[in-house]
Amino acid sequence: MNRNLQCFLSCEAQYDEADIALFGVPFDGTASFRPGARFGPAAIRGESFGLETYSPYCGRDLADCRIFDGGDLELPFGNPRRMLALTQEYTARVLADGKLPVMLGGEHLITLGAVRAVLERYPGLHVIHFDAHTDLRSDYLGEELSHATVMRQIWKLMGDGRIHQFGIRSGERYEFEFAGAHTDLHPFNLHDFESFLPSLAGKPVYFSLDLDVLDPSVFCGTGTPEPGGVGFQELLDAVLQLHRLNVVGCDVNELSPHYDHSGASTAAACKIVRELLLQLKGEMENG
Ligand code: MN
Ligand code: MN
Repeated sequence: MNRNLQCFLSCEAQYDEADIALFGVPFDGTASFRPGARFGPAAIRGESFGLETYSPYCGRDLADCRIFDGGDLELPFGNPRRMLALTQEYTARVLADGKLPVMLGGEHLITLGAVRAVLERYPGLHVIHFDAHTDLRSDYLGEELSHATVMRQIWKLMGDGRIHQFGIRSGERYEFEFAGAHTDLHPFNLHDFESFLPSLAGKPVYFSLDLDVLDPSVFCGTGTPEPGGVGFQELLDAVLQLHRLNVVGCDVNELSPHYDHSGASTAAACKIVRELLLQLKGEMENG
């Protein structure tokens, strides 16, 4: 008899045999506008059963993959530093065990914890960042650790030219000036994502997907919806390119399921997570 606990779709591999370790970081302690992203990982797991394990887009089946779903980290909600330390620790353990970390948010600050660990293992790391927002504030109301500052914090670790931002359409003037000087910014859409990919060939890449890059008409279940975003198909087309990169870690964040009672936002998140998992290297039993 095994416990029948809910995991994402068919991600039922034991930890030791898994190539990929999926885990949730249900934290929304710095959400600047509307909280609720702490419920994202559980909603994604719960609603994932509305999907097939087979992807007609890439011809692969999640049931053939060795993916461990570790559930959610237990976190002190009011303590971003402790959350980051626990996230870094968990990610580092996954990497040390030779597995690829895939993290479900939670708000976007969680990415800093994972990137700290991934960068330690892959010093030549690049970050691809899909988002409506630059997330390049130096602080938010005096607080340096926030989902509005997460890419600025990552830049402090990585330096110039290694953060590649797509779909961005919101931020302070100084954030855009900062991006012009220090990051690789592709605003408003994902049109040049495909032509950009060869520049990162062979390099280790962390992919961070803030789901609010989607237009609120298809994804309103998020804390800071920003009109003028990309459609689901455009995002899916970009995700389907990720097998061309050496992705060594990734996350999907900022689903706040209770703002969309139709469930459509959660369904969009589930489908993107399925396709993302199927794009990662080493996930198939038979190549
Ligand atoms: Mn963000
Ligand atoms: Mn955002």
